[in-house]
Amino acid sequence: MGAFAGKSVVVTGGAKGIGRAISLGFVRAGAGVACADVDEAAGAEILRLAAGAEGRMIFVAADVSRSAACKALVERTVAAFGGVDIRCNNVGIQPTDSYLPAHELPEETWDRIIDVNLKSRFLMTKYCVPEMKKRGGGAIINTASVQGLQSALGVGPYAASKGGDLSLTRQLALEYAKDRIRVLAVNPGTIETPLVAEAAAAFGETVDSQRAKWGACHPLDRIGQPEEIADVVMFLASDKASFMTGSYVNVDGGLMAKGAWA
Ligand code: NAD
Repeated sequence: MGAFAGKSVVVTGGAKGIGRAISLGFVRAGAGVACADVDEAAGAEILRLAAGAEGRMIFVAADVSRSAACKALVERTVAAFGGVDIRCNNVGIQPTDSYLPAHELPEETWDRIIDVNLKSRFLMTKYCVPEMKKRGGGAIINTASVQGLQSALGVGPYAASKGGDLSLTRQLALEYAKDRIRVLAVNPGTIETPLVAEAAAAFGETVDSQRAKWGACHPLDRIGQPEEIADVVMFLASDKASFMTGSYVNVDGGLMAKGAWA
């Protein structure tokens, strides 16, 4: 039996990129997985990929920046798998038209990034925690970013949302420790996903044309793959990480170990 047999897992932004690797990792390890995403075509594709896995996957079309969608997502998960044990708050956006200094950024763009990247964490907490308490505990794993720790030019709302994600991770860990709900975050470095491909395209480039340059920023001299984040997420969600909460793990090829002088 897979390590997560009998567990119920919700993954937001679960149909592409890092979320897809997390959703597939859990379903192949025997879990019931509710994969939530706005991209219904990617949802149909991931259901095809999950067919034949030890666990079972449902796809829920949901914009998780919206309260009603989060409520419905949790209800669908409970109906399908009997509860919620593990919640992966993975969703995140960094629209290519948001690479601007703060005073030039449209207010709607700020609101959208904060709603998707940060408010979704609050909303999913609001609706999931009562279900996790009924199960006697669980784990919440947030996909934050190295940009929650260090910054770059032109990513104001994204960096703020990721700093907020790390702060909320600590806060929720304190609030729910007594309920045996552990709360942790991963901070990916550059990972080869559609988000990163879109960022390259915004500058007339491709991931392949940028691969060596971006790789060289990371001490391990390459960019990462979504499965390398999913493996750490699954470790943090497992009983092997039973004494970890309120903290984060950088999965960044050594990026955060470097100083500007390196
Ligand atoms: P991605 O764009 O490749 O995938 C994100 C998924 O979220 C997509 O399937 C998209 O359809 C979905 N989504 C977008 N808005 C949604 C919404 N409102 N409701 C539900 N689903 C929605 O992104 P990714 O690179 O896989 O990033 C996943 C997470 O990892 C994000 O939180 C991102 O900030 C973080 N991250 C990524 C990198 C990287 O280099 N790729 C680095 C650090 C952190």
